[in-house]
Amino acid sequence: MTGTARLLDGKATALLIRREVADACARLRAARGIVPGLAVVLVGDDPASAIYVRNKEAAAREAGIDSRVVRMPASSSEAAILRTVEQLNGDPSVHGILVQIPLPDGIDEGRIQQAIDPDKDVDGLHPLNSGRLLAGLAGIVPCTPAGILELLLRNGVALAGRRAVVIGRSNIVGKPMAILLLREHCTVTICHSRTRDLAAVTSQAEILISAAGRPALIGAEHILPGAVVVDVGIHSITDVETCRRIFGDDPKRLQAVRERGFTLVGDVHPVEAAERAGWLTPVPGGVGPLTIALLLRNTYHAAAGRPAEEA
Ligand code: NAD
Repeated sequence: MTGTARLLDGKATALLIRREVADACARLRAARGIVPGLAVVLVGDDPASAIYVRNKEAAAREAGIDSRVVRMPASSSEAAILRTVEQLNGDPSVHGILVQIPLPDGIDEGRIQQAIDPDKDVDGLHPLNSGRLLAGLAGIVPCTPAGILELLLRNGVALAGRRAVVIGRSNIVGKPMAILLLREHCTVTICHSRTRDLAAVTSQAEILISAAGRPALIGAEHILPGAVVVDVGIHSITDVETCRRIFGDDPKRLQAVRERGFTLVGDVHPVEAAERAGWLTPVPGGVGPLTIALLLRNTYHAAAGRPAEEA
């Protein structure tokens, strides 16, 4: 990363959390004979999902978590997926259940999510866990926003009293992120696809979290000079035209698309943001690794029987 912004190194923070989880798992095993178990349900053969699941499995194993993938064909009915979830709910060796999304067309993701035992819901998406978060009660918090909070706290970013803007209002990132920041005493604004004059709002933010899922949406005009900027988006740019539109004639980017077939970018324009922000997460190596680290921590807590926030 060039420019004046300091690096908010998600990869390094994630590594620390993963080591802590590995130590905690070893202690749990020694003291109580419990090996945390994570079951990932993968329906269909979406190539990106297959990679995510493989990464989660490897990370879990490395932390001393017994990880298993339940593979189901793309043609699986909702009833069949619900039966699998029920089986895993009843399996005492499984402490955490994650159903990889997207699910094939026609499957109601909400119904599947709500079928997971809330105590095993390591994605933190069950309404009971969303409600607990909203009410300030102990529960399982979605991995990505929980990871971002860890990143900010562990890097000494002051939060209390500061103006925070979250772009995105999904149940998995935007909404829980806003609640977590509120809990840390930020003054929080949520922006979304219907927000008028996004830049006018985001340029007031001392802490800016973007989870819009729009490549390089956030440019210099969206950023308060010196702001802390966290980029949740991750997009693969595979054609030269789009690459040029975002990066002009940047030779490295163009070369990556031509030779490797893609270049990665987040929601935030990395060059413009690096000139203007005070702190910035890179893409890749920012939020992604934290999401996996927090999945492991949520699984550990589900097995150890303590609230997820108490790491
Ligand atoms: P989503 O599509 O469910 O939600 C996107 C949100 O952004 C919506 O609430 C929408 O209103 C808002 N939005 C869309 N366009 C906008 C615009 N032009 N201006 C303002 N708001 C806009 O997505 P999600 O699941 O919340 O994920 C968001 C992004 O984060 C995606 O790119 C996803 O791939 C990425 N993601 C990354 C990780 C990670 O670990 N790095 C984890 C989860 C999600």
